[in-house]
Amino acid sequence: MSHNIKNVTVIGSGTMGNGICHVFAQCGFNVHMMDIKQEALDKAIATIGKNMDRQISKGGLTEEQKQAALGNITTFTDLAAAVKNVDLVVEAATENIDLKCKLFKDLDAHAPEHCILATNTSSISLTRIGSVTKRPGKVIGMHFMNPVPVMKLVEIINGYATDPEVTDVIFKLSEELGKQPCIVNDYPGFISNRILMPLINEAVLALQEGVAGVQQIDTIMKLGMAHPMGPLQLADFIGLDTCYSIMNVLHMGFGNQKYAPATLLANMVQAGYLGVKSGEGFYKYTPGSKEAVVSPRLRHIK
Ligand code: NAD
Repeated sequence: MSHNIKNVTVIGSGTMGNGICHVFAQCGFNVHMMDIKQEALDKAIATIGKNMDRQISKGGLTEEQKQAALGNITTFTDLAAAVKNVDLVVEAATENIDLKCKLFKDLDAHAPEHCILATNTSSISLTRIGSVTKRPGKVIGMHFMNPVPVMKLVEIINGYATDPEVTDVIFKLSEELGKQPCIVNDYPGFISNRILMPLINEAVLALQEGVAGVQQIDTIMKLGMAHPMGPLQLADFIGLDTCYSIMNVLHMGFGNQKYAPATLLANMVQAGYLGVKSGEGFYKYTPGSKEAVVSPRLRHIK
């Protein structure tokens, strides 16, 4: 049934949205990329072009394929126009429950009846998002990982009301995109963030207790557990605000104290030290340099 999906709308053209458009367009789908901000759309097209150039330099893509893929993408700032006549919507707008519920009400009103409505949410309940629509059976999680063109996994999340046929379509479609899909049920943090975020939070707790410094914690997890990146550096890449908000979803969703976000994490978010995107988190980043040095604010913890 996945071969019936030809036209796809991606809502939101930020970090994840541009990567999702990239992958669909490269696989020959007709892609509508929608954002409320024209600048975000322009930036996304430029980013996709740059990332495709990197693929070309590594021999993974030809210039003709790049041009064909870019030709498959049309941009929109109007939601109703963007979802007219499409078979699938993948929503990748800002992680905010009220915003996503409003978006899904609008998508339900404007998308064709047969259209599947997927979301790339990292933590918001699929069942809750589905409940605001008249088609909860066609609402599903399609959780891509960052950076989307590189990372192989798609975590597929079934809401309580998701139809099995819809899961089947999204599973096959994910395989067509060259990804490895894994199906999970709708519980806070799904599988990926239920396991990853407490790991990151525990690293922050160990740091705040002064058990070891930033570099020691990351080195132990990298060299000792063969993780490609230490948990504190990974948190900087994800964004400390995102980590904090997912910990809150786990804490509230399970009502268990073991998921309480570390106070140091809360303080850093409050103070605006959000990791790579703000220039400083557990490490300090200099634009144009790949080198990350431990934040001077945390150097006292050794
Ligand atoms: P981002 O902030 O980079 O991009 C969000 C985009 O959504 C922005 O361009 C914004 O203008 C746009 N937007 C906001 N409201 C909109 C609306 N009403 N209609 C259309 N566009 C709108 O965010 P991101 O990191 O790309 O995250 C997007 C989603 O993907 C979130 O649900 C997030 O939890 C999830 N996610 C993020 C990551 C990650 O590593 N960043 C990984 C997996 C999943």
